[in-house]
Amino acid sequence: MALIFQVDDQGHPRPKVRCDSCGGIIENYADGVALLDTPGTAPEAITEPIFHCLGCEEKIQKTSGPRASMPIDHFMLYVLNNIQLTPKALETARQKMKATSDF
Ligand SMILES: [Zn+2]
Repeated sequence: MALIFQVDDQGHPRPKVRCDSCGGIIENYADGVALLDTPGTAPEAITEPIFHCLGCEEKIQKTSGPRASMPIDHFMLYVLNNIQLTPKALETARQKMKATSDF
C-alpha cells in the first residue's frame, strides 16, 4: 500500500504517497501516477491501487508496454467522490482541523 505516514523532524506523522516500485516518496501529485489492475469484472472483486513515480512508470512501460494509469489528482478525486466526500464536506473538515490541531 503506497499511502503511508512518515514522521517528520518534529515528530508529526505526515501522509505521503510512496512509489510501489522504488519506494521513493512522491512529493508532488504531478510526479507520479496511479494504476488499477482490473482483476476481472466479477461483482465485489477487490483490487488495490498501485502508485509509481514517473521514472519508474517510464521504465516499466518500456518493458511491459503501455497500461491504463491515471494522474494522482484524478485518482484522489475519484476516491473522494466515491466516499461522498464533497468539496463542501472537505472544506468543513479543513476548517475543523485548522481550529483543533496542528495538522
Ligand atoms: Zn519509483
